[in-house]
This record gives sequence, structure tokens and C-alpha cells, in this order.
Amino acid sequence: MSIPWPSLNAARRAVDLESLRRNGVEVLVVGGGVTGAGIALDAASRGLRVALVERGDLAQGTSRWSSKLVHGGLRYLAHGELRLARDSARERAILMTSTAPHLIRALPFLIPSTAGAAALTLGRLGTGAGDVLRAGLPGGFGSLPRARWVDQKKARGLVPGLRPQARGGVVFWDGQLIDDAQLVLGLARTAALYGAAILTRLQATSLSNNGAELLDRCSPGQSFSVEARVVVNATGVWAGELTSGVSLLPSRGSHLVVDSHLLGRPRAALTVPLPGSTSRYVFALPQLDGRTYIGITDEPVRGPIGEADPRPDNSEVEVLLETINTALSRQLQPEDICGSFAGLRPLVAGPRRSGSADLSRRHLIARDSSGVITVTGGKLTTYRAMAEEVVDIVMPILGRTAKCRTRRLPLIGAATPQRLTDLDGDPWLVARYGTEAATVSAEGGPDGAERVVPNLAVTVAELRYAVRHELALGVEDLLDRRTRIGLVPDDRAAAVPIAERVLAELSTV
Ligand SMILES: Cc1cc2nc3c(=O)[nH]c(=O)nc-3n(C[C@H](O)[C@H](O)[C@H](O)COP(=O)(O)OP(=O)(O)OC[C@H]3O[C@@H](n4cnc5c(N)ncnc54)[C@H](O)[C@@H]3O)c2cc1C
Repeated sequence: MSIPWPSLNAARRAVDLESLRRNGVEVLVVGGGVTGAGIALDAASRGLRVALVERGDLAQGTSRWSSKLVHGGLRYLAHGELRLARDSARERAILMTSTAPHLIRALPFLIPSTAGAAALTLGRLGTGAGDVLRAGLPGGFGSLPRARWVDQKKARGLVPGLRPQARGGVVFWDGQLIDDAQLVLGLARTAALYGAAILTRLQATSLSNNGAELLDRCSPGQSFSVEARVVVNATGVWAGELTSGVSLLPSRGSHLVVDSHLLGRPRAALTVPLPGSTSRYVFALPQLDGRTYIGITDEPVRGPIGEADPRPDNSEVEVLLETINTALSRQLQPEDICGSFAGLRPLVAGPRRSGSADLSRRHLIARDSSGVITVTGGKLTTYRAMAEEVVDIVMPILGRTAKCRTRRLPLIGAATPQRLTDLDGDPWLVARYGTEAATVSAEGGPDGAERVVPNLAVTVAELRYAVRHELALGVEDLLDRRTRIGLVPDDRAAAVPIAERVLAELSTV
């Protein structure tokens, strides 16, 4: 059987680690979230020798706890941040039409009439402005339908669980990722295709202008120095632990997970303004796996940030349920929640300090006195532009001149929407793996088509594929990042023995 390249797995990790120790690299990227993976791809595709080191797993941090939206920046328009809105809309068009169409679908958002006149008027104005902005961008025109008013029947067709009092609503469109962790993985694997070493379980304990001290977490106690001509710190909300002079004000955003049938299996994201706000919303975001995520909050977090995953607190759960229930006929109760998750936004301290919702979503690129380049802040949607900016700074330091290629560089699995529609195969696998879906099935083994847990479409083949080609090294990698089974604790518990069996069976890979 032909093995698709690049296969990231334990064997390749060992080879790449040895090479990094012996030979060093030109660019060492620290942090395996969307920012670090995007930089590794940009740098490797310009011909640089690159290694990415991540202390946990790919997408271990904030990048897997997002709302999974590739968005055009409506909120930034509302805050008058035109450049940010334009950058977001441009990057959304690039992702949806060129680099990752397999991972993103167009999702309608419904602001129901029960949201009130002010929210509807602002919604119509904002979404109209968003359409104008998009139409002026390369690839933007025609990439999404235009915002419009829909009547009661159409609104209920989109969100059947809507209160009968809703007479209709404003519908606008945005991009939705099938899975944020899958985007990070796609970036890292594509970077590996261009020669980047992708090394997880490798923690940077200190950085300098000519390299870093690294701790191999697979071999406890194994610390070593590595040489690099440029070091990029892309450790998100933890960036300040490796460099001085970066000021972040982290903010927690939380989501609840419920079964979609409780909202009548919506086809659109129900969008309800938070009480007292006209620019902050609670969304009920339907997912392809039959679940709906309800989010999002924005809670300033003070004090040190550890490695443990953040958790939503009770007041966030209450606000999310209360707000979304104002638009639903069947009121969601705490016992309807089958899972929940939270992430920390790496917000860059800016001039406005009235609350974290008002802090800029812009990113920060800084070079400290030792020469280490730190990039943090921004958002998932604009990772590519951030990476381009960083590598444009790196190139002259190395005396190189190659131009950025990532605007037109498809990630592994990408294809045009038409080709993806024409692909023969399990629609679930096509939605997650694009053109690689057939390989995932083919390598599945005799029980490959079996579901890992009965109520989710995830198959045993996906677990095997993750170990062989996607650098899954443990049960957590398989259940919490390569698949998202772990979002619901009951599903996770049922899946652990199967994940353990697959890992044991493939331990010699
Ligand atoms: C709740 C929430 C919802 C969001 N929703 C959206 C959305 O819908 N759309 C959007 O565009 N953006 C969204 N964002 C923003 C977006 O998720 C983040 O901006 C983005 O994921 C940050 O990525 P990052 O790579 O910079 O950080 P991270 O993903 O946190 O990556 C940093 C990595 O560095 C690693 N690391 C830390 N220290 C070390 C070390 N010493 N050595 C090695 N590795 C280390 C960590 O383990 C981590 O994996 C959301 C954010 C939150 C919190």
C-alpha cells in the first residue's frame, strides 16, 4: 500500500529529533498552535530549514477551543476596526476558496426578530457593510451568499426550535471550520511536506538569539541545547513565560455542548445579543457530528496560567443558557449539557481597558533584546497573514529573499468544492480529510469502518490513520485533538479502551 507523504509518527519524530540535536536549524518555531504551525509552513515553503517544537500535542492550547469560525470580522466593523475586518474577510476568502476549502463550510447565521429592533437594525447594517467589504476582495465576491431578511417560515426552517414569537430575522453568512485542531494538523503536515520537522512533547525552557534549551517530555529528564539562527516564540497566551516585555491580558471564552435535536437540528447558527450589548452575541453553532456548541463568553483571567485546560465557571453556564433560551421554545436546562469547554484568548494589552471584550483582537510581533521574535494575539482566521508578516521579518535576518507562497498553497487534503463534491467516499471522512478520505478508509483494517462510539460518526480507521500519519502519540492525542470524541465525557470514557487497543497494536510504527 502506498503511504501518503508526509507521515508524521513516532518513528519520524525520533529521526527529526536526532537531526535537530545534531544539525540545528535556521528557524526554530516554539508553539504548535495555529500561529506556530502557520509560521512553520510559511518558512518551510520559502525554502528555510525549520523545526517546530510543541511541549504538548499539536493544537494543545487555545487553537482547539475556538468557536471554529473563519469569520469576516463583523464585530470589528462594529468597533470601527476596518483594517482588521478587511484582513479577516480577505483571509476567510483565501481559506474557503484556495488553501483549505475541504475544512470549511459556509454557515448561515440567524438573528431572530425577538432580538429587538436595535440588534436587528445593527445586524442589517453590519452584515450589509460586511457584504460590500467582501465583494471588493479577491475571491470574495460570490464566495458567500448576501445577508437578507427572511420570513417566519424560512427562519423556522433554519432553526426549528425558534420561539413562535419570532416573525423572521436577518440571515448572514460566514465560514465554519469542521474542526480547528484539524486545521492546525493540516498546516503542520503541509509544513512537513516542505521539509519542516514537527516535534511534539518537546518543551522550550529558555530561548536565546542563537537557539533554545529543550526538554524532551518523551524521555523524562532529557534536556539539550539546540542551535537556530532565528527563534520565533509562538506560544500564545504563554508567550510571556519565554520572553520579557510582552503584555497579555488573557480572557476566557466558554462553550457548552448539547445535542442538536434539542434545538430541532438547526441548519443555521442562532445568534442572540447578550443582554445590554448590541455587538456581543451568544451563538448556538450546529456541528456536523450532531452536536451544537453554545458560546461564547469573555471573562478576564488574572494570575498565572498553568498548563491545565481552563473550564467554564457556573456564572458563564448560566449566562449562556439564559441568553440562548430567550430565542428558543424549548428551554435548555443545565442537565441538557453533555459537555463544555473553554479557551484563553491571548489578548494584547491595548489602549482601551474597559473590559476584555473591548480589547483589540490584533496581534503583536515584537523582538526582545536577545533577538527572539515573539508573535501572539490575533485570531485563528488571520493566522496566515500573521505568519507572512513574521517570516518577512525573518528573511532579511537570514539574508534570504524568497517571497511568501501561502496565499495559493493548498493544505494536504484540499481541493476545489466541485472536486470535493465529486469525491466518492464516506461524506464524514470527506468533510474531515478532503482528498485523503479514501486513504483513511483504505488503511482502516478489517474493523476500520466501525464507529468508535455508537452515537458519533468517528471510525476506528481514523484512529489508526492518526497514529500512522498524524503524530498521535497517546490516548489524549487521539480522543481530544485528532478526533473530538473527548468533548463529551461519557463518549470519551467509552472510547478510551478502543484508543488504547489501536495504540498498542501500532506501537511498532
Ligand atoms: C473561546 C475562544 C474562541 C475563539 N474563537 C475563534 C474563532 O471562532 N475564530 C477565530 O478566528 N479565532 C477564534 N479565537 C482566537 C483563536 O483561537 C486564537 O487566537 C488562536 O487559536 C491562538 O493560537 P496560537 O497558536 O497563538 O496559540 P495556542 O493555540 O495556544 O498555541 C500555543 C502553543 O504553545 C505551546 N507552548 C506553550 N509554552 C510552550 C513551551 N515552553 N514550549 C513549547 N510549546 C509551548 C502550547 O502548548 C500551545 O499549544 C477564539 C479564542 C478563544 C479563546
